Amino acid sequence: MDLQLQGKVVLVLAASKGLGRATALQFAREGANVAICARSELIETTATQIVAETGAEVISLRADVTDCNDIDRVVQSTVDRFGGLDILVTNSGGPPSGQFEELPMAAWESAVNLLLMSTVRSIQAALPYLRQSTAPAILTITSSSTKQPIQNLILSNSIRLAVVGLTKTLSQELASDRIRVNSILPGWTYTQRVEELIQSRMAKSGRSLDAELAAASAAIPLGRMGTPDEFANVAVFLCSPAAAYVNGVMLQVDGGLHQGTL
Ligand code: NAD
Repeated sequence: MDLQLQGKVVLVLAASKGLGRATALQFAREGANVAICARSELIETTATQIVAETGAEVISLRADVTDCNDIDRVVQSTVDRFGGLDILVTNSGGPPSGQFEELPMAAWESAVNLLLMSTVRSIQAALPYLRQSTAPAILTITSSSTKQPIQNLILSNSIRLAVVGLTKTLSQELASDRIRVNSILPGWTYTQRVEELIQSRMAKSGRSLDAELAAASAAIPLGRMGTPDEFANVAVFLCSPAAAYVNGVMLQVDGGLHQGTL
């Protein structure tokens, strides 16, 4: 199948590693021009690796997605470099783990900024350019926690639902501009973020790494965690013109973890 991504301009936020990196790499493999950002110099290494593997045009920008000025700069730099913007993938790091009574008010405010406001601001900044695209799409990366809370992750369980509400509402509000807006709700996908969560569980439970990995995978019908590439394949398809009639979908990529019928 031709995903029709050759020459499309894609901005993937928070993409130095993990799901963002894998998604940017897959877009590059499909011939898209890719802009990526993250806070540290690792973003430059990631860009170099993607160029080396794919030969695609890639720009990397150091930016913090909780900073409105950084987001504006990233969007503007993408447009300046590639002449437009077709696809925006919103992403950030995850919020700290913890239960309600362990988390101070400041942790809630930071998590709202990190998960919700970064998404709001980046979509606001990208919209004027997406409106000029012939095949515009927005993808928000959220979590399976929006379907089913995950233990010890109350910040994610709570605030990501606002991102899902935003995504669904925008899929209706922006449809008249032909901008498709979807979300992927990843389940357990083996990235550095997951390693850290597993370590936090080990500290609480006193169990070994293998025992915690087995416990997390036991609830997954496919019996294992996903890989970043498996996530990225779905993300890239969903954003591509090949999925032109898919809009307003909150798609689980979770090996069947979510047990509900809808
Ligand atoms: P990760 O920690 O491996 O990668 C996060 C990326 O975001 C990194 O490139 C990091 O540099 C960047 N980043 C973090 N904070 C940033 C900021 N303020 N500004 C700019 N860049 C920033 O995480 P991941 O596993 O790839 O997950 C990505 C998102 O998906 C996270 O929000 C995570 O909570 C969520 N998620 C992941 C899983 C999973 O199993 N991996 C499951 C559900 C949800």
